[in-house]
Amino acid sequence: MNERLAPAVLECRAPATGHTIGHVRVASPEDVRETVARARRAQVRWGQLDVAERCKRLLALGQRLLDARDELTEGLALECGKPRQEALLTEVAPLLALVKYYAARAPRLLGPRPIPLAFFKHRRSEVRYEARGVIGIISPWNFPLLIPFADAFTALFSGNAAVIKPSEHASLIAITMKRLWDESGLDPDLLQIVAGRGETGQALIQAGVQKIVFTGGVETGRRVAASCGQALVECVMELGGKAPAIVCEDADLELAARAIAFCGFFNAGQACISVERVLAHESIYEELSERIVDHARKLRQGGPEGTWDVGPMIFPPQLATVEALVADAVERGAEVRLGGRRADRTGDFYEPTVLTECTPEMRVAREEIFGPVLPVLRVKDDEEALRIANEVPLGLNGYVFSRSAARARSIAERLEVGSVLVNDVLVDYGAPEVPFGGVKNSGFGRVHGDDALRAMCNVKHIGEPRLTPITAVWPPYSAKGERLARAALAAVFSRKSPLSRLLG
Ligand code: NDP
Repeated sequence: MNERLAPAVLECRAPATGHTIGHVRVASPEDVRETVARARRAQVRWGQLDVAERCKRLLALGQRLLDARDELTEGLALECGKPRQEALLTEVAPLLALVKYYAARAPRLLGPRPIPLAFFKHRRSEVRYEARGVIGIISPWNFPLLIPFADAFTALFSGNAAVIKPSEHASLIAITMKRLWDESGLDPDLLQIVAGRGETGQALIQAGVQKIVFTGGVETGRRVAASCGQALVECVMELGGKAPAIVCEDADLELAARAIAFCGFFNAGQACISVERVLAHESIYEELSERIVDHARKLRQGGPEGTWDVGPMIFPPQLATVEALVADAVERGAEVRLGGRRADRTGDFYEPTVLTECTPEMRVAREEIFGPVLPVLRVKDDEEALRIANEVPLGLNGYVFSRSAARARSIAERLEVGSVLVNDVLVDYGAPEVPFGGVKNSGFGRVHGDDALRAMCNVKHIGEPRLTPITAVWPPYSAKGERLARAALAAVFSRKSPLSRLLG
C-alpha cells in the first residue's frame, strides 16, 4: 500500500451523463484506524444495551429511512443511473424489510440457547451470542445502498459497530445514509464510512476490526481473504455469480421469458444474481428465444433520468468488458438477435442484448458478464443442462422453470449453487429471512437470515454443574479408575446396554 500515491479525493460521476456530481475525501490508513477505534468505544455502550432496546432504536431509524425513500431513490438514480422504480423495489424496500425482520427476531435469536447434553447429565450448558466489536464491510457499486447497509444493520442488531468502505464508484449514497443516521440521534460513532479505493479496504482489514463482510469480484475477494487470513480476521466472501436459468420443455414459456428478461436486464445486468445464461431445452429453444427477444425489445433506454427500464453501465471499463465478451461470442458463431452494441445516446448505455446459438466454450457462457446481455444455449435434456450449469467455477445462484414441481426440485437439488428459485426470480436476495451466499468461487459465509445475525456474534459456551463433578476418573490414574472408565464406556455405548438405548 502506498499512502503517498493515493489522491486524497474521489471524483463522483453520474454514469448516465458523465458529469461530476460530487467529491469525497479519501480516508487515510491513519483515519481508518482512528475511525475503528472510535467505533469500538461506541460499541461497548451499544453492546451493553438490552437487545430489545437496540431493536426499538433501529426500528425507529427504519421509519426515518422510509420517510427518506425519495431522497435515497433519487440518489441511486443519479449516482448509478438506476430506474427509480427499480431503486425503490430492489434497494430501499429490501433494506427496510431487513430492519423490520431483525427488529422482530433479534431478541429471541440472540438470547441464551440451552444445549441439552446427551452424556453429561450432571451438567447444564448454554451458548450465548456476544457482540464481536467492530464489523468492517467492504462493498461493491452495483447495490450501494442495500448491500453495505443490510450487512451494517445485521451487525448493529447483534450489538456490534459497523464501518463501511463503499465502492469508489458509488460512495455518495453511503454518505447520505450516514447523514440520516447522524440526524436520527443514534451514536454517530457506531456507524461510520471510510471512503476510498482498494487501499482503504486493505487499511480497514488491518485496523482492528473483528470481522470483514466483503462483497465484490472473485479476484479482489482472493486478495481480501488473504489479508484477512494474515490478520486472523474472520471473513464472509460474497463473490461473483453466473446464474443459469434452466428452462424445461414443460415450462410456462411466457412466464419464463418474462422472468428471464426482467432478471437478465434489471440494473442493466450488473447484479450478481442476474440471469447470466439461459439453458433452454431444444424443443422450446426457438419459441423461448423469440419470447425473450419480444420482452427485451420493449425495454426503454431513452427519456429523462430515472425513467428508463435499462440504465447505463457504471463506468466505461465495464462497458468495454461487455463489448469484448459479445465480440468473442459473435466471432465464435453466436447470433445477435437483439442489441449487441452501445446505445445511440449519451452516457455509458449498452443495448439490451440477446444472443442465440451460444455454446459453453464462449466467454459469455463461462465468465460473469455483468451487463445487459443474455446468451441462450441449447440443451438436449436435464442432464446436459446440469452438466453445463455446474461446470463453471462460480456457484452463487440459479433458476429453474418447469411445470413439474418434482422435476424442478430435482434439478434445484443438483445445481451447485447457494440458492435456487423455481419459476420466479430475484425474491431470494430481497427476502430478509433467506440466507444468501455462494459455493465454489462464489465465496463462503452467508448474509441475511437468522444464521447471519448470529454469525455476527462470538458464540460463548457456559457450562455449570447440576451435581458434583465425577472426580473418580480424574488423576492420579489408577487400576480402579480405569475399570470404572471401561464400565462407563460399555454402559453408554454398547448396543445392548439399557442406558445406551435410553440415550439414543
Ligand atoms: P470489486 O471486487 O472490484 O470491489 C469490491 C470492493 O472492494 C470495492 O469497495 C473496492 O473498492 C474494494 N477493493 C478493491 N480492491 C481491494 C483490495 N485490494 N482490498 C480491499 N478492498 C478492495 O467489485 P465491484 O465493485 O466491481 O463489484 C462487482 C462484483 O461484485 C461482481 O463480481 C459481482 O458479482 C460481485 N457482487 C457479489 C454479490 C454477492 O452477493 N455475492 C452481490 C453484488 C455484487 P473500489 O470500488 O475502490 O475498487
